Amino acid sequence: MTELVVLSGKGGTGKTTVVGSLAVLAVDKLVADCDVDAANLHLLMSPRIEEAEPYEGAELAEIDPRKCTGCGTCARACRFTAIGCSEGTYHVVPLSCEGCGVCAHVCPAGAVTMAARLSGHVYVSSTPYGTLVHGELRPGEEATGKLVAQVKRRAREQAIREGQELVLVDGAPGIGCPVIASLSGSAAALVVTEPSRSALHDLERVVALVRHFGARVFLAMNKADVEVSAARETRMWAEAEGLPLLGWIPYDEDVTRAQVAGRPLVEYSSGGAARAVRDLWWRLDEELLQKAKDGR
Ligand code: SF4
Ligand code: SF4
Repeated sequence: MTELVVLSGKGGTGKTTVVGSLAVLAVDKLVADCDVDAANLHLLMSPRIEEAEPYEGAELAEIDPRKCTGCGTCARACRFTAIGCSEGTYHVVPLSCEGCGVCAHVCPAGAVTMAARLSGHVYVSSTPYGTLVHGELRPGEEATGKLVAQVKRRAREQAIREGQELVLVDGAPGIGCPVIASLSGSAAALVVTEPSRSALHDLERVVALVRHFGARVFLAMNKADVEVSAARETRMWAEAEGLPLLGWIPYDEDVTRAQVAGRPLVEYSSGGAARAVRDLWWRLDEELLQKAKDGR
């Protein structure tokens, strides 16, 4: 089983548009949406939830009023001002509590306990394009590497169960903890970028991260014809770094139309961007799956 994670140096580069189309083009695959902070792949894939698994994020402090003496030590120690007091009774404000456990540590009466908190769910859904594993956070909860790791674990289990050849992962943007969790254990990464100086800077950082984890790196340039000189600069950088630039996707208004229609680009359009994404998949398939099968 091969795992390909699609990344971008920052949000808004067209990463999810690419993943949504690869999900249509690839056969024998399962898709995992690890961009849990801005999970929107489900908008393109029309999922029907088949299974839900609870996700427990940071713990939540709880004060036992029978043991609490009202000394206020916990409230003074909490740097997130997550402990309030009304009429002499101390209580935890759940949305402010970061689960650090300091209050439980300092409470002289042993009145504070740390409890698991339901922060969201990991879903296994059926779609017209195969199985999608995705996460959803409850309001006020932050995306964490822990949730991404749970989505990936569930996706791998499901892919093995289904006998899939490829796990296609929509990774989080940037280079933070959720990205590292998206990348962990993946054999290869496709990094989607745009033609601009700042995008090249972001690209350099994410490529360094992928290399650190020992995964193969492939690149795709989205809106490649919008800033020709910046696109050329990125191409030259990729050549100097020995990175295969497998996709050269032109600006195409069909991309926005497909998003508005809630459909994967390659299914909605036969225009320039859709053709370029098909070519990108053909080259990726050759690099990732066909060469492995042929022992090349
Ligand atoms: S430190 Fe313990 S005893 Fe003091 S107010 Fe907080 S919960 Fe109550
Ligand atoms: S666990 Fe940390 S953040 Fe939550 S109430 Fe206690 S001290 Fe504050």
